[in-house]
Amino acid sequence: MIQKVTMYQAVCDECGKKRNPCKDRSYAEGYIAPWEYMEGRLLCRQCIERMYDYDEEKDCYIPKAIPNN
Ligand SMILES: [Zn+2]
Repeated sequence: MIQKVTMYQAVCDECGKKRNPCKDRSYAEGYIAPWEYMEGRLLCRQCIERMYDYDEEKDCYIPKAIPNN
């Protein structure tokens, strides 16, 4: 038979990139690494590196200064 299934997948809130879908929501949330939530938005590695600098002393990410054109 054909059965409808609901899938969950992590989606980057910045660029829209998607991770592999899985059937279980908690599984999708538990395996987001190396993606991370930054200020409430789930971001992929490339977007984190593009938008944030890692501060080794404070062990945290700080938003990059936006270039002032
Ligand atoms: Zn992204």
